[in-house]
Amino acid sequence: MIRIDPRTVILLAGVMGAFMAGIMYALKRSYPPAIKGLGEWALALALISVGGVLGFGVGFLPDVVSITLPRLLFPSGLLLAYVGTQRFFGLTPRMWPWVVVIAAVVLAQMWFTFVAPSFHMRLVLSGSLGVCLLMAYVHLLHRQGVSTFARALTVGVLLTLMAIVLMRIVTTFIWPVGEGVLDTSTHHLIYVTGFSFGIVLLSVSLVLMATERLHSEVAYLASHDSLTNAFTRRHMNEVCAMEMERSQRHGHSMALLIMDLDHFKSVNDTYGHQRGDGLLVDFVTKVQALLRRPDQLGRFGGEEFVALLPETSLDEAMGVAERIRAACAASDQEPCRTVSIGVTTNHTAGDSVGSLIARADAAMYQAKARGRNRVETA
Ligand code: GH3
Ligand code: MG
Ligand code: MG
Repeated sequence: MIRIDPRTVILLAGVMGAFMAGIMYALKRSYPPAIKGLGEWALALALISVGGVLGFGVGFLPDVVSITLPRLLFPSGLLLAYVGTQRFFGLTPRMWPWVVVIAAVVLAQMWFTFVAPSFHMRLVLSGSLGVCLLMAYVHLLHRQGVSTFARALTVGVLLTLMAIVLMRIVTTFIWPVGEGVLDTSTHHLIYVTGFSFGIVLLSVSLVLMATERLHSEVAYLASHDSLTNAFTRRHMNEVCAMEMERSQRHGHSMALLIMDLDHFKSVNDTYGHQRGDGLLVDFVTKVQALLRRPDQLGRFGGEEFVALLPETSLDEAMGVAERIRAACAASDQEPCRTVSIGVTTNHTAGDSVGSLIARADAAMYQAKARGRNRVETA
């Protein structure tokens, strides 16, 4: 028969929680500030781990330190983890109703520790508060969408924690409740061990959530131009290669537009770089509004842009290009900026992304040579 010592389990969970709090704090310092909530998560884990270490001292530390304080620290830590997750998802947390509830429960716990000692009532009170917090936490994640591994793991851990706490509340009404947190009955050991490791797993799943977010932020930065938010050249090269393969497999035509703003240097020279930047952003907004959903717009560099139009014939692409040209020329804003556009499709056997870009580029230069504010094809 394996014997588990609850005191050791509580201490180990406390120490591991402290390590995880340190790791979370290190992440907070090194991850982009746009990823919110890591500070709350680090503090939450720190509070819970201190609660665990103090719980280890039951019997040789004063009750107020080893019983009352942990029962304040655990729900406060869980609340902070919940608040951190709200901030992680860009929500504005409302903490005070929970703070009032936690304060009331802790006062009631003190009553059942010092005035009318009852481990049963303490368990029911702290367990019910824990279940309510866990339910709110699961509800929050559910609303945000359990679409990634880390979010699914977090929900799984929270539901398991909830099941363990509920089990412990129910068993207090069926079997002898035991002497206190160091009780060695099987159901109590499942509660203590499950809760301790659940907290460690929760911290792992939160670290994973932060890492997933970092990954998607980095992927976004790598695929989007920081000024105009159009796709980057690297992303366009990738999607063009993929679309090329797809169109060859299905025998579709795909079109490429290369667009270069006319006499753009003079905008910078006359109105300044900032105005020039604003015009580039306006151009992207204008073109995006004229493209269909599967089309992709990228910035190739400077004032040169590329649009990929999947499943589009040369005639259709010429129509789109003409609409873009006309929309730019029709602008009554000063300085008026026209655009020259080169259009091509993958009509030649053995076409590659490179040859397509070269053809569209040549067509664009032809448009420049023929007077600008034109659409040409090659
Ligand atoms: P053309 O009609 O022949 O295309 O003339 P152009 O003046 O547009 O072409 P040129 O290649 O001579 O100049 C491009 C200008 O685009 C030069 C540069 O100052 C400007 N430019 C490139 N990138 C940016 C940017 O990010 N912001 C701003 N404001 N200007 C940029
Ligand atoms: Mg230009
Ligand atoms: Mg240019």
